[in-house]
Amino acid sequence: MIDSIKTKFKQLFQNDGDLYASAGRVNLIGEHTDYNGGYVFPGAIDKGIVAEIKENGLNKVRVYSIDCDEYCEFGLEEEDKPEQSWACYIFGVCRETIKRGGKVKCFDSVFAGDVPLGAGLSSSAALESTFAFAIEDINGNGFDRFELARIGQSTEHNYCGVKCGIMDQFASCFGKAGSLIRLNCKTMEYKYFPFEPKGYRLVLIDSCVKHELASSAYNKRRESCERAAAAIRANHPEVEFLSDAKRVWLDEVRDRISEEDFIRAEYVIGEVQRVLDVCDALERGDYETVGEMMYQTHFGLSKLYEVSCEELDFLNKLARKCEVTGSRVMGGGFGGCTINLVKDELAEEFIAAATEQFTEKFGHAPKVYNVVISDGARKL
Ligand code: ADP
Ligand code: MG
Repeated sequence: MIDSIKTKFKQLFQNDGDLYASAGRVNLIGEHTDYNGGYVFPGAIDKGIVAEIKENGLNKVRVYSIDCDEYCEFGLEEEDKPEQSWACYIFGVCRETIKRGGKVKCFDSVFAGDVPLGAGLSSSAALESTFAFAIEDINGNGFDRFELARIGQSTEHNYCGVKCGIMDQFASCFGKAGSLIRLNCKTMEYKYFPFEPKGYRLVLIDSCVKHELASSAYNKRRESCERAAAAIRANHPEVEFLSDAKRVWLDEVRDRISEEDFIRAEYVIGEVQRVLDVCDALERGDYETVGEMMYQTHFGLSKLYEVSCEELDFLNKLARKCEVTGSRVMGGGFGGCTINLVKDELAEEFIAAATEQFTEKFGHAPKVYNVVISDGARKL
């Protein structure tokens, strides 16, 4: 990948630049917890974006995307927004840097990546944080990694039409090889935990489906959580978000909320505790407990929060049958990937079984990605 970037850069710009990179991410556990003020537990992966970048002394940015085989140039005023959607991520990062009082010297760039697009591994965050980090490095605006993550998030909001949370950009900017990062979505405090599962690997199975329900169901889940939190708050004023509530406090309001709101809240409160339990287990190097928690999360997402689907439940069940240590749907639900913690010696058999049986049942093959927890945004 780097060779083709360098060759193309030389050919287009008759020059050499510096290389920057960032990464996609996985979230080991902590799903639908972010908007409830709870924890998420992501890490950067060994799939990302690499960009060669060099100041050009012009009044326009010139960029070539190897993967799209497209060239684009744009100025840095608000009205200069490019047409190509991939270029909007880079333009957005420039604009958000400027809006925060930062300087952006125009540059040339060639970039490529190997994060599968739209598979739930956040290729867009990898793209944003590569450029946010590079622009910071070149211009010395004094923005810390949190600010770079926010620049990426605001880019999605304001230039790409995606109202995302902060997790993806956070993971991409803060990721470290061999570590997952527990982020408290209420206070933004974070802590690294060791994730070096010797003898195990992380395998993602992408169902390649996305069911229509996703966005309306998402809003409904949020509303359920808000109603449950409000009911609990009446007894316990310190409960700002649902994640602040103890399980017994939920039981106190059982007959004041609907059965549906109750089971949604039951999932969320359980999930916040599971993240903490997984962190404890990782500090002991106990990957079997980590795996068991992943299965519990899947059960909760499927039966209580009801955001799974037939394809994902199928993959989860199959993982159990193949003695996979841990398995759950990753992301908002209704499609996308399962994340699996698998013993090395069982991995091949599991992947073969999943591929064969899933294809037979659903008529299309799933995609398989092996991932390793790796570094996030950096200069190469
Ligand atoms: P994801 O879940 O992977 O983040 P998104 O739809 O949010 O999916 O972002 C994917 C978009 O990001 C692509 O459509 C493209 O515009 C941009 N993108 C990501 N990776 C690349 C790449 N390697 N080259 C060009 N554009 C990319
Ligand atoms: Mg994205």
